[in-house]
Amino acid sequence: MAEPSKTYADLVRMIMSSDKEYDLAMIEKAYHYADEAHGHQIRKSGEPYIIHPVAVACRLVEFGMDTQSVVAGLLHDVIEDTECTYEDVAKLFGKEIANLTDGVTKLGKIPFSSREEQQAENLRKMLMAMSEDIRVIIIKFADRMHNLSTLEYVAPQKQRDKALECLEVYAPIAHRLGMRNVKEYMEDVSLRYLDPVAYQEIEEDLEAVSSSRKQFVEHTMEMIRERIEPSIPGVYLAGRVKSINGIYKKMFLQGKTFEQIYDVFALRVIVNSIIDCYNVLGIIHDMYTPIPNRFKDYISTPKPNMYQSLHTTVIGKEGIPFEVQIRTWEMHHTAEYGIAAHWKYKLGMASGNEKKDSLEDRLQWIRNMLDNQSETGDVTDLVSSIKTDLAPEEVFVFTPKGDVIDLPMGSTVIDFAYAIHSAVGNRMIGAKVDQKMVPLDYKVKTGEIIEIMTTKEVGRGPNRDWLSLVRTSEARNKIRAWFKKEKREENIVEGRAEVEREFKRNNMVMTDELMKYILESVGRRHSCSTPDDFYAAVGYGGILLWKLMPRVKEEYQKIQKPAEPVTIQQQSQQITNKKAAGGVLVEGMDNCLIKFSRCCNPLPGDEIIGFITRGFGVSIHKCDCTNVPKDLASIPEPERWVRAHWAGEVKEEFKSTLHILVSNRAGILADITMQLMNMRIFIHALNAHEIKKSENAMISATITINGLTHLQQVIDRLMKIRGVLSIDRS
Ligand code: MN
Repeated sequence: MAEPSKTYADLVRMIMSSDKEYDLAMIEKAYHYADEAHGHQIRKSGEPYIIHPVAVACRLVEFGMDTQSVVAGLLHDVIEDTECTYEDVAKLFGKEIANLTDGVTKLGKIPFSSREEQQAENLRKMLMAMSEDIRVIIIKFADRMHNLSTLEYVAPQKQRDKALECLEVYAPIAHRLGMRNVKEYMEDVSLRYLDPVAYQEIEEDLEAVSSSRKQFVEHTMEMIRERIEPSIPGVYLAGRVKSINGIYKKMFLQGKTFEQIYDVFALRVIVNSIIDCYNVLGIIHDMYTPIPNRFKDYISTPKPNMYQSLHTTVIGKEGIPFEVQIRTWEMHHTAEYGIAAHWKYKLGMASGNEKKDSLEDRLQWIRNMLDNQSETGDVTDLVSSIKTDLAPEEVFVFTPKGDVIDLPMGSTVIDFAYAIHSAVGNRMIGAKVDQKMVPLDYKVKTGEIIEIMTTKEVGRGPNRDWLSLVRTSEARNKIRAWFKKEKREENIVEGRAEVEREFKRNNMVMTDELMKYILESVGRRHSCSTPDDFYAAVGYGGILLWKLMPRVKEEYQKIQKPAEPVTIQQQSQQITNKKAAGGVLVEGMDNCLIKFSRCCNPLPGDEIIGFITRGFGVSIHKCDCTNVPKDLASIPEPERWVRAHWAGEVKEEFKSTLHILVSNRAGILADITMQLMNMRIFIHALNAHEIKKSENAMISATITINGLTHLQQVIDRLMKIRGVLSIDRS
């Protein structure tokens, strides 16, 4: 998949054919400087290092960035990877370029972590760095894009990390800055490494339908061209294929089949003026029947990332729906290059004012994000706001006075109330949409007029249930803030009850002291210094207990570890007592140590046999385990194999590994994990691989199970998932 590496000659060619003016002497100087500085360093691909900065510089020219950016692109790795310092670069190329180079280096040093808190902190740093000079992040995008294109030379674990980082951090920022080409490139390449099975499936689906759909699109395009051209000169038509990740998200998040996605192929019409956009729309709606509710006017109401276009879906010949996007050239450049379009058009603009404003608007978003974050003080909210606030689909609704409030798709009237003011949200008792009363979980739609009813009653506030009804992080934070402030005592009681319930459900029995120890050690990183702080945080929703449980369990097990033999002794004691909860009876032996063999992981209900080990008690195998000799008479020391059976009711938990043969469809792994989670089953390990030369894949899941009946229930449920072919247990 790697494209041929770009050379300096390619860069010069691109600069010459661009419609911008560049300081070629300066660029050449930077090239030689970087080339010399990197010297004999090589890339993982085996190529000389200089191809990387050159590729980055080429990308920046493609974006239409200015000379400083291109020079900084060439120099972006010298401060970090060579002997050159900030001062050296500043002396030779000036402070501005030195700052850019340094900014890119610093951005690269922000480690990516899949741990949410850390990710948030890093994002904050990244936004700070960006808010000083936005070109820094654009150079970083170019850097990451080239690294992604050469990811095949990197170790698998690093591939996943880098892909995840692009998907979780860089692509959302690119999207917010309106850089569609960067976002889609990053998402598609990342997906290829993160979910290769689904990626390939979609690629094949696309290929399978593309020839017939292409024909359809081309034919339709001709029909439209014939109608439009006589009245609107200079119209440009093109077909467009949706990005693989875009299709993936629709299939995965909205549960659609490939066939149900209308806009896999779309038509794009580019014209010279806004009036022409609406004229084209009129002609298309005259030719074809539009599908209701699919028309979007992003020209009069641009998306928050400045994207502008008209979108409509119409029913074409033979009832095949297709999407049409209509825009001007300028809108088109903004759609492709987003914020970079600012530099593309900066030169040669008689009055740069308008452009400057839109740049300021975009930067405002970063500042708002940082401001909000410092208010709540919780960095994990930053990640969720990046994720929700960047959701591509938004709705625009109105206050009774006509003010526009934009909210992410799926927001309820509660989100609306908090978007107006926290005091409105906190005193809310009901809502009217277009003058009709609606329930509080009502999801608002574009164009609706919403009126919030409030009470003056003192002491009344939001309801805890609202936390699950809101979509925006803003509303969630404000509700939590209210509970945090107003109801500490109540939170402690609620939180404590929840913690106790959860511990019980996980069979974690412990003394108060131990509990205190665990809560303190887990709570520390959430700034809870006492168990009460911890309970309070759980109570108002600042800590999501289910997220922390794996860590709590880890702590618990750490403490339990040294006492491990005791649990086994306990077991045997129970056997002698004939209560035998979770135990095994071994014939002819009381009080023996028992362990369950790992080769066959016997479960209560299985037929079992014991083997007397030297010094480690009796190990229990399934009778049909391959390690149990078929013919006891033919082996030495047959007396070491002893009869055993399960005693009484079992309360212990056992590990079991399921081998699930599935047909290789997108999302099946998620369906399986979701089902296991719904059944509250703890997953120790999960892995999946394709079976070569077949349509199938094998998923192995090691799970906690408490007996054969339980196991059968799990298997029955999993077998109901579409695409699961068979399940074996080892
Ligand atoms: Mn680099």
